[in-house]
Amino acid sequence: MHDFPWWTDSQRALMDDSQKLADEVLIPIAEKCIYKKAFPWEAVKEIAAAGWFGATIPEEYGGHQREWGVTGACILSEQAGRAGALAAAYVTSIIGATQQILHDGSEAQKEKWLPKLAKGELLGSISMTEPYAGSDIASLETSAVHEGEFYVVNGIKRFQTSAAAADLYMTYVKTSSDSHDRKSYRHLTGIIIEKGTPGFSVERINEWMGSEGMYNCYLRFDNARVPTENVIGGEGNGWQVMMRGLNIERVLSAAVPLGGMREAMRYARQHLERRVQFGQTTGSISVNQFKLADMYSKFQLARLLIYYTAYCADLGRDVPIEAALSKLFSSEAGLEVALEAVQCMGGNGVMKIYPVERIMREMKLNQIAAGTSEILRLLIYRMGTAFFANILKMPHRIIDEEVKRPLPIGNTSKSRLVSNETDILKLLAENYRVNPGLHMTLGDIKQVVDINDEDLLSYLDVLENKGLAQQWQNRKSQVELVKATLTGIKEANPPEYYRYIPDWVPEKDIF
Ligand SMILES: Cc1cc2nc3c(=O)[nH]c(=O)nc-3n(C[C@H](O)[C@H](O)[C@H](O)COP(=O)(O)OP(=O)(O)OC[C@H]3O[C@@H](n4cnc5c(N)ncnc54)[C@H](O)[C@@H]3O)c2cc1C
Repeated sequence: MHDFPWWTDSQRALMDDSQKLADEVLIPIAEKCIYKKAFPWEAVKEIAAAGWFGATIPEEYGGHQREWGVTGACILSEQAGRAGALAAAYVTSIIGATQQILHDGSEAQKEKWLPKLAKGELLGSISMTEPYAGSDIASLETSAVHEGEFYVVNGIKRFQTSAAAADLYMTYVKTSSDSHDRKSYRHLTGIIIEKGTPGFSVERINEWMGSEGMYNCYLRFDNARVPTENVIGGEGNGWQVMMRGLNIERVLSAAVPLGGMREAMRYARQHLERRVQFGQTTGSISVNQFKLADMYSKFQLARLLIYYTAYCADLGRDVPIEAALSKLFSSEAGLEVALEAVQCMGGNGVMKIYPVERIMREMKLNQIAAGTSEILRLLIYRMGTAFFANILKMPHRIIDEEVKRPLPIGNTSKSRLVSNETDILKLLAENYRVNPGLHMTLGDIKQVVDINDEDLLSYLDVLENKGLAQQWQNRKSQVELVKATLTGIKEANPPEYYRYIPDWVPEKDIF
């Protein structure tokens, strides 16, 4: 597989070694497990022996963080993604327990758990989702009450990947019902609950689409007594602990579909080379070549995005937008690539004799697990609007005398003096000419005139009372937008001021 110029020699070596392991050992084991519907224990042991679980764990705790880091964990997730359910066990252990202990755990917690997690002697899992709390995870109900040396935990979690197989469950619980705590997201606490804790049990193992043999469970907590020393990051800090882990969770989850895409493309390509219809291979039909071209493009674009994000994370940069974008793009590209691979293979594509139909089913999971595509879009919209605020500012435009059309002017100087409400009305009427149909924000007005909020709002009130302007208030009852009414537009200027007729229109047609 191709590396990237910024990878270190260790990361390149990791790619070669992990690819060899995947081809020679992991994929055969994993595919067999799928037919047998068995958890891929043997493959987990192989990757544990190769040190994969320690990719993000510092060397002093037995890991390979300096050598491999987040980039290395993505390289390994890509390879594990080629081996079906193995990817879920691998990524879940890194994002459930390992990351939280690493970033928010005490020294004692690190020493107790990280060396065993690094060796794969302990597997992690992440317990957030509940029957009545999915995307809206802050509303989770599983509670923990502090009693001496323990927290007493009660509740149910569901959709827990790799649960039953895992040893450490990074569990988020509600420790406060105070409305002030809820508002400030101080109502949650993260706590490691260990397999074998009395009162902690598997309620149900879900049978799900794709990933046969991988566990996905409902978990029950019936007065489970968990030592207070298992709290990660302190009581009331659960939301912050959860949020800190999300970037790594998203970029690793994004790397998994890369593996599925690779396998789907590989089967499609080889099938096209070997299938003859109408006297030619189906691979020589340009429609199928275009499909492969789209698959290659989506795969390589996803890789670029993911490994760039991982690189930035390894540099210590915060990558919330990049991680969300990686997860969204890769999971959507993954399903599209798998669907097209099936199509290239015709009937063979949907037969279980080839792995492509399973890959297609697994790809759908990626658009839901670790944050749905809709929630990711919501986040990208919110974060992107703030991130790009500077380049998304409304351009200040004026009617150019020569071309008689609105043109942006780079430099806005507050040239106009405002002496009464008529000046504001003129400004609003001018906006009708320059930005037809749009209101002005108070900021737009203050960009061009020197006026304080108090005077501006009082002039706007006067104009509104006269029916010449209209204010639009947001949900907090603050004036946010304003426009001239049609009466106000007429009042501000004579009709010919607004008139614009292009030269090419014959005069006889104008009235
Ligand atoms: C395969 C798999 C593995 C999983 N593994 C784990 C795990 O290991 N640990 C764990 O804790 N959880 C896990 N989950 C749970 C997963 O995180 C949730 O399924 C996911 O967050 C969505 O929650 P939900 O299923 O309750 O859907 P809901 O929240 O009920 O959403 C239903 C639909 O409504 C949309 N929607 C909801 N709110 C909004 C909104 N405000 N705006 C726009 N659209 C919205 C969603 O995008 C979705 O399309 C797993 C899920 C799957 C499918």
